[in-house]
Amino acid sequence: MTTAPSAAVPVMLDLRAHLRPPASPDGYVEMWNRLEPVLVTLDPRSGPRICLDMAEEGTVTVLFLSPATAPVPFSANTPFAVRGILEPPRVRYSCATCRREGATTYAPFTCTGCGSDERPGRVCDAHAVFLDGSLRTSCAEHVPVCRCGRTARAWCGGPRCRSGRAWCSDHLVRHRGDASVEYCLECHEERFPACERSGCTGTGLTRCEHRDPNDGKPCDRRMCAEHVTRWRIYGDRSPGLALCARHHGGLRTASPDTLVALILMGTAARAQSRRGSRQGSRRSAFLPRIGIVRHIFINTCNRVLDMGTLDSLFVQLQRDLQHRKAVAGGRGLTEAALRLLDQHAASRREDVQRFRDSHTEGKEHFARLRALLQQSGKYELADAITFADYRPKSGILFVRVPQEMRSRFIGSGGAVVKDLRARLGVNIQLERE
Ligand SMILES: [Zn+2]
Ligand SMILES: [Zn+2]
Ligand SMILES: [Zn+2]
Ligand SMILES: [Zn+2]
Ligand SMILES: [Zn+2]
Ligand SMILES: [Zn+2]
Repeated sequence: MTTAPSAAVPVMLDLRAHLRPPASPDGYVEMWNRLEPVLVTLDPRSGPRICLDMAEEGTVTVLFLSPATAPVPFSANTPFAVRGILEPPRVRYSCATCRREGATTYAPFTCTGCGSDERPGRVCDAHAVFLDGSLRTSCAEHVPVCRCGRTARAWCGGPRCRSGRAWCSDHLVRHRGDASVEYCLECHEERFPACERSGCTGTGLTRCEHRDPNDGKPCDRRMCAEHVTRWRIYGDRSPGLALCARHHGGLRTASPDTLVALILMGTAARAQSRRGSRQGSRRSAFLPRIGIVRHIFINTCNRVLDMGTLDSLFVQLQRDLQHRKAVAGGRGLTEAALRLLDQHAASRREDVQRFRDSHTEGKEHFARLRALLQQSGKYELADAITFADYRPKSGILFVRVPQEMRSRFIGSGGAVVKDLRARLGVNIQLERE
């Protein structure tokens, strides 16, 4: 090139219709070496834009940026200056599946299976696979696999998986309330546990609250709202302990110390679960006072225990638990149970004392009742009746009367007992047998 650079012919190369544009400066030099011999044979006056056919590579268009000043004709010595190159647009995110087939396609979706550790691979509209339950995508080759090894069909939106695990058809169950949602078997069982009653299709949302009195193990059988039975031990303060059919059925024949242990363990488990979660949002669990426990015994197994006996059952239980704690260490439930017993002790002392006081008062009423019977010549009745209970607040004296003497004690139309009530000044009730 002998001419001064200022005389060079300015051109621009348009490679947008070229199928394999050079990837490096060396590639451009090589391409130019092939173009230049053709270029010098052209007449720049035939147009500012001349299309050159590069056979299977496509076409290259040469743009003369200043055709008027170009020498005519070109010679082998004519210098050219390439002022610019128009390249075909590059696809930054191209589909990995399409690439394997030799095509470049824009890929808006990702496939982690195709990618590297730092960047997920890409997949195009046509090759993207979506499974129900999530907007996550993959290519056909990297569709998630179920735990059993088969290709998954949907993501589980259940409480355990939270759309993070995909399962095959065999391991998916439709949501009961919404058929468009599917859960894996485990999530379905957790969300919709079966009721323990055989044949029941209800959801067992309530767990049996029975705890083994010895090791505290929960029963945890599940019951639906219809088949749950409640052992009403908290009065109106709280719903009673939920029990399965087996454990509810066993109450009637259970021994007093077992019943007291069940009340304690069930309440301790409630107290424990309420301590951990959102303190204060729910009412804490408390043991029923022994006056209530006395009624629980009457209603549950038809036993009448006096307050002193009831108190001693709790005291014995406390000793057992303290011993267990010393031997095996205090587990959560044992600790919670001992805490409840500590809180309970003061009200128990109070209740026992009040019972003793009223007992004394009741015994006095009873002695007067017996005297009244003797005064009216009813010696046999006076000997047969026994003291049962006295309620100072309501002024009721409970007496036990043998079955065969009840009608004599009551009198026709209740005349005898009415007269006794009036003379004694307290309400007299027959203890139910
Ligand atoms: Zn593709
Ligand atoms: Zn893939
Ligand atoms: Zn499976
Ligand atoms: Zn699941
Ligand atoms: Zn049921
Ligand atoms: Zn149970």
